Amino acid sequence: MNTEETPTRSDFIRQIINDDNDTGKHDGRVQTRFPPEPNGYLHIGHAKSICLNFGLSEEYQGKCNLRFDDTNPLTEDTEYVDSIRSDVRWLGFDWDDREYYASNYFDQLYDFAIQLIQAGKAYVCDLNPEEVSEYRGPWNGVGKESPGRSRTVEENLDLFERMKSGEFKDGEKTLRAKIDMGAKNMNMRDPTIYRIRHASHHRSGDKWCIYPMYDFTHGLSDSIERITHSICTLEFENHRPLYDWFLAQLGVFHPQQIEFARLNLTYTVLSKRKLLSLVKENHVDGWDDPRMPTISGYRRRGYTPESIRNFCKEIGVTKYNSLTDIHLLERSIREHLNRISPRVMGVLNPLKVVIENFPEEKVEYRDAVNNPEDPAAGTRPVAFTRELYIERDDFMEDPPRKFFRLAPGKEVRLRYAYFLKCEEVIKDPVTGEVTELRCSYDPETSGGHAPDGRKVKGTIHWVSASESVQADVRLYEHLFSCEDPNAIQEGDDWRNHLNPNSVQVLEDCRVEACLASASPDERYQFERKGYFCLDRQDSTPEKLVFNRTVTLKDTWAKVKKKTNGG
Ligand code: ATP
Ligand code: MG
Repeated sequence: MNTEETPTRSDFIRQIINDDNDTGKHDGRVQTRFPPEPNGYLHIGHAKSICLNFGLSEEYQGKCNLRFDDTNPLTEDTEYVDSIRSDVRWLGFDWDDREYYASNYFDQLYDFAIQLIQAGKAYVCDLNPEEVSEYRGPWNGVGKESPGRSRTVEENLDLFERMKSGEFKDGEKTLRAKIDMGAKNMNMRDPTIYRIRHASHHRSGDKWCIYPMYDFTHGLSDSIERITHSICTLEFENHRPLYDWFLAQLGVFHPQQIEFARLNLTYTVLSKRKLLSLVKENHVDGWDDPRMPTISGYRRRGYTPESIRNFCKEIGVTKYNSLTDIHLLERSIREHLNRISPRVMGVLNPLKVVIENFPEEKVEYRDAVNNPEDPAAGTRPVAFTRELYIERDDFMEDPPRKFFRLAPGKEVRLRYAYFLKCEEVIKDPVTGEVTELRCSYDPETSGGHAPDGRKVKGTIHWVSASESVQADVRLYEHLFSCEDPNAIQEGDDWRNHLNPNSVQVLEDCRVEACLASASPDERYQFERKGYFCLDRQDSTPEKLVFNRTVTLKDTWAKVKKKTNGG
């Protein structure tokens, strides 16, 4: 399957938009938004929402805004704003000059709150947070009215003004919508609109000590921006009546909220709260740790924006929560990298080979194919010398019958070079460890075949000892060792399921000399070993550090097949 060709499937959201366009509801206008709260870095779940919102605006010649939903001064920060902007761009989307902030609407939102008070639809409540939740009642019961509910408009206007001017402490008063304490839907039982927070905001500074709540802010921000289709995740489905209530009471432009199922991935947590604790508790090395499911982590790991976008197309959007197999994402990366990555040779666990019948000073250049998937990529010269490195596990002193690589007295083919025969095994006299192989090569096998017709079954990769460079290589496994770290038993902690082997660092690997000038934006296939890229954080010209982006094959699929008896 060719990654670039995955078509966008139709779905219930596109159906709604088509219907709206047919009835002329918004005169054919399609305006969406991606509304992150700047309290963490974007993750692959956000990518699903970004691809959906920006994708729809492209398909329908509409527009998509980037809006920072920044109403909580305690958790938000400009570091997050900056990372979000750069991640959305990296994914390949552009919001032109439509970068908005809910905090820019604080004056308008305040005026809307005043309008609600004047209409007798909002009141100042004296209950503390515990009392508010106690009065709200159980989900299957009814709530109890707050004493503040009977205040007059004048009292409410006066108290709200005094809340704003800083007369009260955090939690001492709230402004609440006056809806229905007997409502079945708990979100309609007089929800809070404003709370007091004596805290500095990353954009509005100390101008405000009252902050609007998410439900109030979100719909009204949508309305201010004249969003036509406000797409959010399923957990907001029973907030929709409230979304609609605010807009209807205020008589303003009314976007339609549409919910879809969020992305959940196996072996992964996607809650920002959990990702933040992984960072804060040093389980990982920052938000962009290559094991993190964040956009910046994936970027550092070597994932491409094309393959992430393609993955989002493949999974599509539905109305039902489910758990997506992470191997689907990895397959999408692998397919793209297979098409675009130059091939090179890298030996991760080197064993020295000395070719006794090859001259000491001689360097012979062999032609190696850069990318069999892309003939235009051509070939490159690879140095072949008397001393080489091969992969330690491509040699066995005492091999089983089906081992077709190197063994004492046996022959193997060196990729792009000659047949190589192992003549003698040198060991450490103390430990018994194999330290070197003395070999011979057959100069007649330059084309990879012997003129006398003798066959070798195995082909192994190698690098020249003198014409290669040293590198550290980091191999990754999933960050969690259980399939669904979000669904663990009560009393257990999700952190207990972190995979202790999620990263393995191999030092003293040897890679082709051409990689000394690699860029972190290039991905390479190390033949037989997977796809790799330079670590943009830790790699230096003096010390190359490579991350394995993804393995060459889906080894997991094989394991699963075996355990299924297939
Ligand atoms: P979290 O629950 O991880 O803290 P959030 O939903 O609070 O995330 P926001 O910054 O509010 O994070 O998210 C911005 C947008 O991205 C929202 O529209 C939200 O619905 C969407 N989004 C967040 N997580 C996912 C996900 N796993 N799958 C799809 N969309 C998501
Ligand atoms: Mg949110």
